[in-house]
Amino acid sequence: MSGNPLPPDRFREALARVADWRLSPLEPVACPVCEEDGLVIEDRSTRPYAEWYVLSCPSCGLGHTIHIPMSPIMSGGD
Ligand SMILES: [Zn+2]
Repeated sequence: MSGNPLPPDRFREALARVADWRLSPLEPVACPVCEEDGLVIEDRSTRPYAEWYVLSCPSCGLGHTIHIPMSPIMSGGD
């Protein structure tokens, strides 16, 4: 099962939608491509190594996995 890939110019928007969803997972999320509510986000992250989010939109057929490598937390030392 696959859908339409996320256009590269919508990537930042998609990240913002994921961030919103993580803050309020019960709120409807608008698709970063077609702006219709009803974006489905599935968290398949393998913490603490990486974050994976599967985005799918029933309105425009978006089906895309976002991969966010988790940067190691740098300690300042003091
Ligand atoms: Zn859509």
